[in-house]
Amino acid sequence: MPVSVDNQTLDKQIDCLVIKRYRRYLHDFVGGINVNQAVASLRYVNNYIGGEWVAPAGGTTLEVEDPFTHEVRGCAPLSDARDVDVAVAAATAAFTTWHHAPVAERQRVLRILKAALVDNLEELAMIWSFEVGTPITTARQASAFLPVKVLEDLDRVLDTFSFSQHLDTTRVDRVPVGPIAAITPWNYPLSQLIIKCASAIAAGCTVVAKPSEIAPLCAFRFVELAAERGLPPGLINLVGGDGLTCGTALVSHPGIRLVSFTGSTVTGRTIARISGERLVRTCLELGGKSASLVLDEAILDTALAGTLASCTRNSGQTCTSLTRLIVPAALFERACEVSTAIMGGFVVGDPRDPATAIGPLVSAKQRDRALDIIASGEREGARRILGADTSLPTTGYFVPPTVFRDVDPSMRVAREEIFAPVLSIFPAHDDAEAIAIANDSEFGLAASVWASDHAHADAVAKVVDAGTLTINGGAFHPSAPYGGIKASGLGRELGVYGLEEFLEYRTYHGASA
Ligand code: NAD
Repeated sequence: MPVSVDNQTLDKQIDCLVIKRYRRYLHDFVGGINVNQAVASLRYVNNYIGGEWVAPAGGTTLEVEDPFTHEVRGCAPLSDARDVDVAVAAATAAFTTWHHAPVAERQRVLRILKAALVDNLEELAMIWSFEVGTPITTARQASAFLPVKVLEDLDRVLDTFSFSQHLDTTRVDRVPVGPIAAITPWNYPLSQLIIKCASAIAAGCTVVAKPSEIAPLCAFRFVELAAERGLPPGLINLVGGDGLTCGTALVSHPGIRLVSFTGSTVTGRTIARISGERLVRTCLELGGKSASLVLDEAILDTALAGTLASCTRNSGQTCTSLTRLIVPAALFERACEVSTAIMGGFVVGDPRDPATAIGPLVSAKQRDRALDIIASGEREGARRILGADTSLPTTGYFVPPTVFRDVDPSMRVAREEIFAPVLSIFPAHDDAEAIAIANDSEFGLAASVWASDHAHADAVAKVVDAGTLTINGGAFHPSAPYGGIKASGLGRELGVYGLEEFLEYRTYHGASA
């Protein structure tokens, strides 16, 4: 049966769901406090280690810039290997008791994290928007939907999860791997941190978390709020710092038994090399270049709306963004025309304006890289049918919403994760060609398939290389395993699958007579 739910409709449904479900938490959304003032400057000079705020050994901090206004929004510590040592020692000390913590105690901590989040949704969403430039509507949805759902879901999973089973006289236990490192990127700074910490804690692990140095404020504020609500010392230890010094020290630390990393494929490979040498497990959620395959005309408009909404989500800085649109050759001209109209209609501007769909990129570096790839596309002969003469706000690291046609699959615009609102459109003469274009990528994170015949879409989806597939805009299930294949990563997050990443088996033969 044909299903036609585009991503914009989905966003609206999520909005309604969030507002209905969490209405009681949303008092701040309607102006209870002056959030702008409350988060005008968040100055974190200390790490949070073992339940205390501890000054970094080097005594230095790094400022966080608002990518729209260029104001300094706060700072976070710049830690080094000495601070990592202290944090891992705290996580190790806490692990000695936490790995035996009864389920009810783990659930109590999940509820502390949930309270810290839901009681402060608007403030946290606003900090997210200030440090990343994420349009506030997206930051609100992303704060209120997935992280809350994950915390609730793990609480429920723990009710029935079996940490031990018998095979005749042999007992097989599932035990926490030990203190883990959680290293997170800047683009979804709150949800990534919460997903990793909550899953690890539910499994009985303790955490040393290192947020991105580009957007660390959400993480510091969230942990501060959780600490105020009674988060037991040592379960989450938060160190601010850069990747090369602090991140490397953390990944290389002998006390860390698993690295849960979300970020770029380049960094993922470096971490995998270090972890491979140390023989510790890694869970890697990396980049993407996701394809949207439209198989027939009847679904074209819905598919284009969904694809463009995904392509531009968080101003194009979303790992699962659909950035390669593949349409039947006969529909190519229309797809170019409609995509350009939709993309050109998005409001580009102040991320704090709820009407804004596309804000600035996070930094001058990201903007310059995106513009460089766009320029390479034009040089190599792709036709830029939107974006060349778009007027942009005078402040902020904006990249014009861009649509390319006549793209050769060998071009950088077709191959690299641009992390900006940039779409490339490809014609395909049949399903086989559409699948070949989709699979011609080093990445394999996500893909969408659209067809008026659901079975047709399902059959094509089965042979597209991706860990996470969406058929006809189907709703994202927050308890389903999430992650990629190929250069998009290893391992899965969310639900029981995410919990299991932090457990290992321990076998006792002859455990019972
Ligand atoms: P990044 O790889 O530059 O940094 C991510 C984190 O790793 C940061 O905390 C950084 O300080 C740290 N880091 C950097 N070098 C390190 C090293 N050598 N050792 C240890 N830690 C190190 O990525 P980013 O620019 O912050 O994030 C954007 C990337 O993240 C994109 O590629 C995006 O696709 C990806 N991402 C993937 C998912 C997913 O679920 N698959 C989700 C969000 C973002």
